[in-house]
Amino acid sequence: MSADQATMFAAIDRVAELAHAAAPMWRRSSSDVRAALLNGLAAALEANAAALVDLGDSETGLGAARLNGELARTAFQLRGFASEVKAGVPYRTVDDPAVAGAPPAGRPHLTRVLVPLGPVAMFSASNFPFAFSVLGGDTASALAAGCPVIVKAHSGHGALSRKVFEIAAKVVEQQNLPAGILTFVENTSREANAYLVQHRSVGAVAFTGSYQGGVALWRAANNRPRPVPFYGELGSINPLVVLPEALSNGEIEPAQTLAASIALGCGQFCTSPGIICVFDDDAGDRFVAELAKALGKQTPHRMLTEGIRRAYEDGVERLADHASTKSLVAQPSNGSGPSPRLFEAHADAFTGNTSLHEEVFGPAAVVVRVRSIEQVIDVLEAVEGSLTVTLWGAGADTPGNRALAYAAEQAGGRVLFGGVPTGVAVTHAQHHGGPWPASTSPQTTSVGYAAIERFLRPVAMQDAPAWVIAVRDGSVQS
Ligand code: NAP
Repeated sequence: MSADQATMFAAIDRVAELAHAAAPMWRRSSSDVRAALLNGLAAALEANAAALVDLGDSETGLGAARLNGELARTAFQLRGFASEVKAGVPYRTVDDPAVAGAPPAGRPHLTRVLVPLGPVAMFSASNFPFAFSVLGGDTASALAAGCPVIVKAHSGHGALSRKVFEIAAKVVEQQNLPAGILTFVENTSREANAYLVQHRSVGAVAFTGSYQGGVALWRAANNRPRPVPFYGELGSINPLVVLPEALSNGEIEPAQTLAASIALGCGQFCTSPGIICVFDDDAGDRFVAELAKALGKQTPHRMLTEGIRRAYEDGVERLADHASTKSLVAQPSNGSGPSPRLFEAHADAFTGNTSLHEEVFGPAAVVVRVRSIEQVIDVLEAVEGSLTVTLWGAGADTPGNRALAYAAEQAGGRVLFGGVPTGVAVTHAQHHGGPWPASTSPQTTSVGYAAIERFLRPVAMQDAPAWVIAVRDGSVQS
């Protein structure tokens, strides 16, 4: 092992041991203590907003408007999880009183309680430097569940991550909490990342990023002597279906809405629409022409990192070189960002060509021309699991729309019947996940208040004395 590697491993040992030491206190913390930390972190973010947004913009190029909005969302999310804690969500129990008599009707007294999984290794995402980074959704939900968090900073916004962590660490200290509740590692190698995932003190992993990186770390989590849950969001093509009914009032407005969504944030949204199914008819032709016109006018800002830009250029080259595609938008870039790209393929060629189904992270999409709802369903069945599937024009209760809605729920974690998939509201009903590779754990969400459940494990207490349940109600430090 090189000296550098040994230093990184030692740094990981240090934070993992701090997290391990803080875990019992945090697991037993009252709702007041937990909510105070989450609210304090939100307030500290807001108090430092101007400086943090400047720093974030210099590293990511995402712009002040977007970053201010993201910071506000991050604070909202932290406060939302504080409210969940105050409402007793992580302390909830399910009680089955004893029933006298022989089984199966007769039974012991059972109380189902929730136990935090332990320290969570949280790999920040490149594309949300606030909302999916140091104090983002994974951190907020894990802390709310009673798990210490070890943040792995993303190299694309390293200085911002360090600054946010320093601000957060001060809040932890001011509230007289152990430093191990929130710790931080940065500039780690791939081997060190795997070492963190496999550390004996780590009880779960949260990850948002590429398919390749996510699979490597998912394997590492599963190759431990005792595997731990790995909540990874790895990639998503987000099909959007334009049924003829959606164009009954014209093509221009829906085409402009869709073009703006494809190019939003330079296409660096996990929910960016990547496949657009359009019927092979006159209205469909007009819609595709308007979409191409509107997308060609977009001027995306620069991409997050050089690596992401290279991956985008490789991805569009692969689509451009494919024998089954036609390029619809390909003018040279007119700024620091990449040029938006639109390709077209027929469903007959698309469904069998898996290389056309891969996510191209950036402002690019493939229009798939279809002749029937059955063909749309073939497309949805051919592509891999997705965070979202959007159906435009499926308002009427018809056998075709029922079949389509069923295919959509099989393929995605969120099914939209209008609007665009970019933008994910933080609510109780939200689900941000989906079949592999959208998520390695499709039954859980990384956005919304249900995310707290990922970091809790049920335990059934049988015939427990009253005090065992009473100390778990979150009213006092147990
Ligand atoms: P990434 O390369 O997967 O990096 C994410 C994290 O994993 C980083 O902390 C990275 O460490 C680490 N990592 C990556 N490969 C690893 C490996 N083989 N072993 C151990 N650790 C590894 O993702 P990214 O930087 O965010 O973006 C790259 C690509 O990810 C994009 O081009 C895009 O395709 C995809 N992406 C998808 C989504 C989505 O939600 N669908 C979101 C963001 C990105 P370092 O920072 O130290 O390299």
